[in-house]
Amino acid sequence: MRILIVEDEKKVSNFIRQALEEEQYAVDQAFNGEDGVDLAEVYEYDLVILDLMLPKKGGLVVLHELRGMGKKMPILVLTARDAVQDKVTVLDAGGDDYLTKPFSIEEFLARVRALMRRGPVEKTQVLKIADLTLDLIKREVFRGAKRIDLTNKEYALLEYFMRNPNRVLTRSMITEHVWNIDFDTETNVIDVYITYLRNKIDKGEPHRLIQTIRGVGYMLQGDYNAHPGKTGHMV
Ligand code: CA
Repeated sequence: MRILIVEDEKKVSNFIRQALEEEQYAVDQAFNGEDGVDLAEVYEYDLVILDLMLPKKGGLVVLHELRGMGKKMPILVLTARDAVQDKVTVLDAGGDDYLTKPFSIEEFLARVRALMRRGPVEKTQVLKIADLTLDLIKREVFRGAKRIDLTNKEYALLEYFMRNPNRVLTRSMITEHVWNIDFDTETNVIDVYITYLRNKIDKGEPHRLIQTIRGVGYMLQGDYNAHPGKTGHMV
């Protein structure tokens, strides 16, 4: 397994390199963010150890760029800071784990082993169906270029639809995934929320995304061409 360490403090970098090499990992080092991104672009690493405070390119920028390139290897972030906000930012930016300096080498190696076991994970940040996009981190929804403001419940409902496009979702499936155990299944709350959502994402659009499947439930129809009304082809 091959690991990249992106850390500008040579002492720290060399210390963890040695510990990793003793565990038989192949280790490369970058001493600034720019070199880190360049190396990760060229070589296939199984894990990246990334310091947050780096010259040339900060750790968060490196994180965004690696995920933006579609790199899915686990990333363990190191930092001297211990603010809760940093942890949240790191995890939201696609970091997999977080270790505050100073740390014990035993804990460090245990986290490396845990991340290696987990392997690469798909980290989707933006769901996209036709011209509708939902950013899971920023919690922003756009239909084309138009920004759509949703309430928390409308957002949760739309997220569930967007994670299950082109699939009929029954009212009981929707209830199970979007509402909690106290939900009264006798009410028409789901239909009411579907109406709210339609008014926000489909109103005035030539292509309606939310389809009613009579007697069954609803479907988010992402593929316009799959519409039953469309048959013949152009010659
Ligand atoms: Ca540093």
